[in-house]
Amino acid sequence: MKKRIWLAALFGLLMSLAGCSTPQKTGVSVVSTVDFYGEMAKAVVGRYGTATSVISDPAVDPHDYEPTTAVGKAVATADIVVENGAGYDSWMPKLVAANGNRAKVVSAAKVVGVKPGENEHIWYKPSAVPAMADALAKQLGKLDPVHKAQYLANAAAYNKRLKPISTLVMKLRHGSHNARVAVSEPVFNNALTAMGYRISNEHFAQAIEEGTDPSPEDIRQLRADFTAHRVQFFVVNTQVQSNIIASLVKAAEAADIPIVRVTETLPAKHTYTSWMLQQYQAVARVQAAQQ
Ligand SMILES: [Zn+2]
Repeated sequence: MKKRIWLAALFGLLMSLAGCSTPQKTGVSVVSTVDFYGEMAKAVVGRYGTATSVISDPAVDPHDYEPTTAVGKAVATADIVVENGAGYDSWMPKLVAANGNRAKVVSAAKVVGVKPGENEHIWYKPSAVPAMADALAKQLGKLDPVHKAQYLANAAAYNKRLKPISTLVMKLRHGSHNARVAVSEPVFNNALTAMGYRISNEHFAQAIEEGTDPSPEDIRQLRADFTAHRVQFFVVNTQVQSNIIASLVKAAEAADIPIVRVTETLPAKHTYTSWMLQQYQAVARVQAAQQ
């Protein structure tokens, strides 16, 4: 698989594994593959352990990530690992197996029921992170039964903070009217499906995701969809640099097709909730303008 050209991908990899470097472990240790799950893990663990994330730099493309030795060591002492699964961060189960570690694995794919080959951007399903918080709380309660009630309460409190996301999704579902939309790649597809939109160019998007060139026929079709207004908006991942996408953004704008900008990773200074809301609000603005 060819690598995608990820914006600022050459920046150094930053890790927030500080909690794992202390030899004396206090409480349960949870290591998440990416920070948008790590934030949830930190909230659920609360005062009773440490929660760290391997990838917490928005400039790192999780699709291409390869763990360092330091990450391997951190995983070796983890009690629980939190992963996306479905092939997205498959280096994590490999690390766990390689270390002969008996860490419990909380996998979004398993919690939500996403099979290999299905869209792997599971955190874009509005139900996924709340379900993971509950699953992690249960797992923590098994390892540390004394604080079981607190873990469950922490998960409930965290999920309450996520509530505005599902509320907005339900509202947008009423306004989507099952319309067709175009995407630069499949990153936001689970969110679009949750809102009731249909994706018009799956084949094109898959090529971009895999770092290959979309076919001239797919590009021609997409341009025709813009000019004929057969799609309501065009979703673009701003973290991927591509001349093809840049020219398609211009074509969409020339045809008055709104652009909805999304990212694959948690932007700096955002929480999972503020990140999701910002993207859903971009869709809300499109719906409001088209009414
Ligand atoms: Zn992706």
